[in-house]
This record gives sequence, structure tokens and C-alpha cells, in this order.
Amino acid sequence: MQILPEIQCVTAGEYVFRQGEMGDRAYLIESGRIEISAESSGETRVLSVLKQGDVFGEMTLIDSNPRSATAKALDDCSLVPITRALVETKLGNADPLTRLLLKLVLSRYRDSRSDTTPTPISHERTLQQVAAELNIATELRQALQDNELEVHYQPIVRLTDQTLAGFEALARWNQRNEGYVPPPKFIAVAEETGLILPLGRWVLEQSCLALQRLQAQADMADVGDLFMSINVAAGQLYHRDEAQTLLSTIKDAGATPQQIKLEITETALLEDPQAAARAMEILRDQGIRLAIDDFGTGYSGLNYLYRFPLHTLKIDRSFIARLPEDESCLRLVRAILGLCREMNLAAIAEGVELPEQAAALRALGCELAQGYLFARPLPESEARRWLVDKTRPAADNAA
Ligand code: C2E
Ligand code: CA
Ligand code: CA
Repeated sequence: MQILPEIQCVTAGEYVFRQGEMGDRAYLIESGRIEISAESSGETRVLSVLKQGDVFGEMTLIDSNPRSATAKALDDCSLVPITRALVETKLGNADPLTRLLLKLVLSRYRDSRSDTTPTPISHERTLQQVAAELNIATELRQALQDNELEVHYQPIVRLTDQTLAGFEALARWNQRNEGYVPPPKFIAVAEETGLILPLGRWVLEQSCLALQRLQAQADMADVGDLFMSINVAAGQLYHRDEAQTLLSTIKDAGATPQQIKLEITETALLEDPQAAARAMEILRDQGIRLAIDDFGTGYSGLNYLYRFPLHTLKIDRSFIARLPEDESCLRLVRAILGLCREMNLAAIAEGVELPEQAAALRALGCELAQGYLFARPLPESEARRWLVDKTRPAADNAA
């Protein structure tokens, strides 16, 4: 089913956007006229007047720079928004070279239209960047095919008694001859090239299979039901029918949706809130729990907390790192936990490294935590061993 964008109406004199604002969409004029103007050295110049069939604001589809001009309706207008998320979805299936070259061409186009003359260096750098990304993309595709990626599992514990509640699955890539590649680097390239779809499905499949084995171990140790928390990128959330694909991946791997939590960052949600809400409702209706990752780092508005079917907030580790000495951070974490209680959301503190941080969080009523204090992300065999050691009656679990 093709989802058509909703028409937006603006009245004469109204601004569609102003120079300097951030944006995530271009517009196709269905009716009316739009004036495009730009301010430079304190002077406002009208650049053009656009009419039916024209497109404006298209630069924001390719980069995240502020708007370089102001768009104002001269008449009552109807506009068809074209969101960046929609374009990314359409480009999702194009091959990486096409996507990267398109980006390069468009960035040159932006340079050619801007007042400042671009230095050749900036193009050179772009080319080098494109070449490096292409290289990583090619190797990553091969690594996926050759099963060279791994998933590590970081325990998530209850702060009251430090018993195990679940794991977060984290992708690892040990690149041949190059060594370990930091996840943010290869995840970014995977998102850029559309490889995030097969990568995301693979991580989900592997971690569902691992969960069966970890749960079997947990059953023997009488630990109770575990959950597996898996990161989902914007590119996955917005890809048509991916929610259904993720559900079948979980079922085919023998897990139940009730065992799975999916972690989504605030910024990923807000690129296209309507599409995000649609995908999340499909997942939630099947019993999957949804968590906001890195809570507090992405976005200042909080209204999305009731717009989306959320279960958990993961408090970003930058807040936890400053506990317990930093009084304002302590107050902030207390406020986030209060918010969770009010909104009936579970809370997980990330990046707990020190016993004092765990104690402060426990005192504030935070239920769950993960961090180096308890365990680093571990290969599955080590995670199983950790589970056994942790639950051995005689063991002195000082952590
Ligand atoms: P994240 O989701 O916030 O994952 C938590 C990161 O914090 C992990 O880094 C983990 O190793 C690290 N960490 C855990 N405990 C501590 C601690 O006590 N102190 C400190 N300083 N760090 C801690 P990692 O594995 O390098 O992953 C980085 C990011 O890459 C993740 O951040 C996530 O955004 C992304 N990522 C990793 N795997 C996947 C994946 O399979 N899919 C997607 N979409 N993203 C992934
Ligand atoms: Ca995460
Ligand atoms: Ca996080």
C-alpha cells in the first residue's frame, strides 16, 4: 500500500519556514504562490516567486544544514510535503554507489548555489569521505554475507538485588586486517547505504536464537524470564513493511514478541513521527515492548512520550556519569524517574560504572541498570558463563 503525504494548507502571509530554521521536508506547490527570500549582510532579497508544480526547500532532503532561505505564502496555498524520511525510504533499495554519488552531486549543487565560494578542499574531502564510506559499505556487505559479524550481549540487572533481567544485543564487527570497527561508525554507513535492513534483521535473528540458549541456562539457574533488547535504526523503522518483517524474524527464530524489547532513539522517532507511530503500533500490538534509547539527549519536547506506544525509557549514560556528586544531574535523574512513574514507563539507567552510581540510582527508585560495573557487552559464551557465576549460591557477587 502506497502512503500518500498529507496536503498542507497555508494562508496568505504565513511563513512555511524561515532562513536559519532546521527542516526535514521539501514542498511541492499544488496551488498558490510562494515567495523565496534570503537575508544577506542585513538585507533581504527576494530570490524567486514559485507557483503550481514548483518544488522548494529541497536542500533539507540531503543534508542537515539550516534553511538557507525563507519561504512565505503570497496567496492561500496548498502544499504537498516531501519528507526526508520518505526520500530515504525510496532510496533505501538503491545501491550504495548511487546513493553516495547522488549525495555528492547534491552537495556540490548546494555549494554552487551558496554565496560563499567552496574551497576545492571541501569537495576533495567529500570525495574522500564518499570513497571511505563506499569501502566500508562494500566490506560490510561482504562481512554480512560471510557471517563475519558478531553480536555481544550486555546484562541488564535489577538494582534492588542485582539479579539478571535481560540483555542488550550490540553488533560487533572485527574487520579483516583492520581490526575492530566501532559500532557507531559501521552503523552510520549501514544506515547511509540501506545495509541497515539486512544488518538489523541479522542482529535480531541472532539475538533471538541466543536468547533461547540464554533462557535455557537461566531456567536451570532459576533466574526467571529474560528479555532481549535490540537496537532499531531510523532506516528500519521507516522502511515499508519492515515492522512485519521484524515480527516474522522473531517468530522464525523461535522467540515470542513478549521476550523482545526494541530500542529506538528520540531523533529517529521524530524524523517522521506519523510513520514511526504506525510502525510502533504494529509492533506493540503483537506484544513487543518499545524503549526510547539515550533518553534526554535528542530532543527537548516531551509530547512524544504520549504520542508513541512506549514501555521503557533508557536514561542516557551522560547523566549517569555525573552521579552522584553533581547535584543538578541528580535532580534531573530524579525528575526523569518521576516522569516514568507518572507515565507508567519502566526506566533503565545506562553506563553505570561505579558502585556509588548504582547506590544513588537505587535510592532514587530506578529499577533496572546496565553498565561496566555489572558487565561489559559479552560474547554469548561469556554471557552464559556470567549468568552461571552470578547465580552460583556460594559466589560472592560484590559488583
Ligand atoms: P547504545 O545503544 O547507547 O549502546 C550502549 C553503548 O554503551 C554500547 O556501545 C556499550 O558498549 C556502551 N556501554 C555499556 N556500558 C557502558 C559503561 O558502563 N560505560 C561506558 N562508557 N559505555 C558503556 P557500543 O557497543 O560501542 O555501541 C554504540 C552504539 O552503536 C549503540 O549505542 C547503538 O546506538 C549502536 N549499535 C550497536 N549495535 C547496534 C545494532 O545492532 N543496531 C543498531 N541500529 N545500532 C547499534
Ligand atoms: Ca541501545
Ligand atoms: Ca543508549
